[in-house]
Amino acid sequence: MIVSDCLFCKIISKEIKSDIIYEDDSLLAIKDINPAAPVHLLIIPKIHVASLNEVAIGDVEILGHIQLLASRLAEESGVSERGYRLVNNCGEWGGQSVFHLHYHLLGGKQMGWPPE
Ligand code: AMP
Ligand code: ZN
Repeated sequence: MIVSDCLFCKIISKEIKSDIIYEDDSLLAIKDINPAAPVHLLIIPKIHVASLNEVAIGDVEILGHIQLLASRLAEESGVSERGYRLVNNCGEWGGQSVFHLHYHLLGGKQMGWPPE
């Protein structure tokens, strides 16, 4: 389902241009337009799910697929060995700004913990 006023649905439908790193029938991975690390990719399911709050049992396969793709893209981006972070921001207090489920793959520098 494409949601007409959703930024990531427009990126998925190619209505808005993006720097695509990977695409298959169910997932898209793009470069983040405002990178927070030397490697900053977004892994986006093609189905419109607003946030992790809305996932259901039927989404288990795609959620697993996201983690496998993150592992593969980390390897291909050269950050596997030193380490990286896979992040989902959920809701206002989680810092989510685009309400179409996505995961950030961040790497290429030492990151701190815990987040502020
Ligand atoms: P979040 O704040 O977790 O919802 O993440 C949304 C991310 O989308 C941010 O890191 C933005 O920099 C990124 N972003 C916003 N617009 C675009 C765009 N047109 N292309 C690629 N990334 C984008
Ligand atoms: Zn969407």
